[in-house]
Amino acid sequence: MKKFKMPGAWLIDIEGILVKDKSYQPVDGSVEWLESIASSGTPWCLVSNQTTDWPADLQDRLVKSGFPVSDDHLVGVLDLTVNWLRERGKEKLLWLGCGELKGYWANAGFQLVEKGPCDSVVLGANPAMEVHHLDSALPALIDGASDLVCLHRNSFFVNSEGERRLGPGAWAAALETIVSQGKVVTMGKPEERIYREALKRVGVGPSEALFISDDPVADLVTAKSLGMQTVFALSGKYPDHEILGQMDENQWPHIIVKTPADLLAEFQ
Ligand SMILES: [Mg+2]
Repeated sequence: MKKFKMPGAWLIDIEGILVKDKSYQPVDGSVEWLESIASSGTPWCLVSNQTTDWPADLQDRLVKSGFPVSDDHLVGVLDLTVNWLRERGKEKLLWLGCGELKGYWANAGFQLVEKGPCDSVVLGANPAMEVHHLDSALPALIDGASDLVCLHRNSFFVNSEGERRLGPGAWAAALETIVSQGKVVTMGKPEERIYREALKRVGVGPSEALFISDDPVADLVTAKSLGMQTVFALSGKYPDHEILGQMDENQWPHIIVKTPADLLAEFQ
């Protein structure tokens, strides 16, 4: 069996790697696996496109599921977006995401509007999304100069009942066609911004980092193109490696494992 170099830092996806889905039930062996990484002293962080819980609640759920996660370990798209909007002086937002997160934006100092002029339309995952919610953004995007800020563009997600649901990528594809003067920006994976933030957090360059995810398309293509080692685990979104048939061979991940816990056997 081919053996790989132990990474200098671990960048870890959450859903499909630590937990099975939005039920937050741990993937078999993942609690012990993360504990062994944490006790090894190698830096690590979680790279999350999660946009349905406050970051503190996400951390709390992971801790309750048994994972040794502190807030320093979370590199999440919500916090990244707050910083991005603040740096650009964007204050008025139209939030097209989970209602539970309205307070998150207000707490971070933003003013939320229901429709009409705003600086940014911010789009996140929302299991309750309906077409009339998207319609509410049309005046800001067509008549105004609002940007469309997509927290991520995953085309679907798996809900706590195990059903596949259309995700923000599908809604973004619909809305970006009508943006008139503003910009269309994507913050989370697969855009490079969040990977660079994660590398900053663990303090290594890309060639020393390993990225593990259950999504070789949305998560690992960028990680590999930046020069990281990449691991595709079959413990989440895809139960087999058939998906690789839809990708260019040069984008394939370096390692495939059944579960994250199987990974340690791959290293020298
Ligand atoms: Mg995942």
